Amino acid sequence: MPIYEYWCDSCRRVVSSYRRTSSVPPPPCPRCGNIELKRIFSTFSVQKTYRDVYEDILSDRELTQGMIRDDPRAIAEWNKRMSGGEKSPPEYEELTERMETGEWPVAQIEEKRKEFSGQGKGKPKID
Ligand SMILES: [Zn+2]
Repeated sequence: MPIYEYWCDSCRRVVSSYRRTSSVPPPPCPRCGNIELKRIFSTFSVQKTYRDVYEDILSDRELTQGMIRDDPRAIAEWNKRMSGGEKSPPEYEELTERMETGEWPVAQIEEKRKEFSGQGKGKPKID
């Protein structure tokens, strides 16, 4: 499980929490009960490679089921995870833009899927 870190403004301390996904609300501060914790940089996103993130996504049944149902929120979550919460690489920005205009770049997603599963044409190009 990934560890997400939050910042409590009242206590001025970092709260670490195991969360299944980053989309669930932050936990209340264990010290003061503040429920408005701010999400801060997660070490999880830097340490993971795209392939790890992709495998995470595939192991998340809720998310993969959402993608099968063409649930745009699942796709948005997918994008978020693929970018590790950071700025998206250009190819994902393009996918996101196309989806925002109502287009459904299934072929491109499928292409990425093959790339990351390592069963496509050779290894993914990660420079
Ligand atoms: Zn607190």
